[in-house]
Amino acid sequence: MEKKRIPLVAGNWKMYKTIAEARQLVPDLVAGLDPIAGVEKAICPPFTALLPVKALLEGSSIHLGAQNMHWEDSGAYTGEISPRMVAELCTYVIIGHSERRAYFGETDETVNKKVKSAYTAGLIPILCVGETLQENEAGKTGEVVERQIKKGLLDVRLTPEKDGSIPLVIAYEPVWAIGTGRAASGEDANTVVSKYIRPSLAQLFGLAVAQSVRVLYGGSVKASNASEFFNQPEIDGALVGGASLKADEFIAIVKYAVLP
Ligand code: PEP
Repeated sequence: MEKKRIPLVAGNWKMYKTIAEARQLVPDLVAGLDPIAGVEKAICPPFTALLPVKALLEGSSIHLGAQNMHWEDSGAYTGEISPRMVAELCTYVIIGHSERRAYFGETDETVNKKVKSAYTAGLIPILCVGETLQENEAGKTGEVVERQIKKGLLDVRLTPEKDGSIPLVIAYEPVWAIGTGRAASGEDANTVVSKYIRPSLAQLFGLAVAQSVRVLYGGSVKASNASEFFNQPEIDGALVGGASLKADEFIAIVKYAVLP
């Protein structure tokens, strides 16, 4: 089936790479990724590395993203980074990653505030949704991702970009697949997207928008299994954690995402 959405492969560096380490990795990424057309590429380093990485990406086709942010523009929130600060440097911001939900108390309500403030600041959110192992085994996958989408995007107004694309990315990341080496099957991930994620988006924003939003898969993606996901009709790329820290591996994954 022909896909009309441009695939996106984004690397989530998590809490890895000092500035010095980032300076070593990024030139290899630029050399390998920049010439690859037909797929959008993004990397999401830790906050401290954003500015130096932005300088290294200058003139390349690789976008920059942050891994989180607060929802307020400014204020007495020691240790936080605001949407306006992120927007000075980045195109994308990951919101509601399962590690933030699990370890830092993020809820659908705080995720929703962050998504709204991302738009106010001019950022494109990569909204992460996905069920835990327990929820999966209890047959609650659909219920969980529908709730995360509907509450995370409550009262959000989507305005198409000048080129008609929709400035929203959903990453379906089953929690049990993240960093475990145990990826979902391409077919199962595709079913979650077609049965729960796009219908939830359609209820919120209408069918046309739901069909235009890019939905990525994330969870133990590597070069050896990437094409299984990219060949699925409803999956438009990947959010890659561990494998995005190695230039050769990440470049190989991005090559598999190129539309035929
Ligand atoms: C992630 O951090 O979003 C992720 C999917 O991690 P990994 O690829 O390491 O499973």
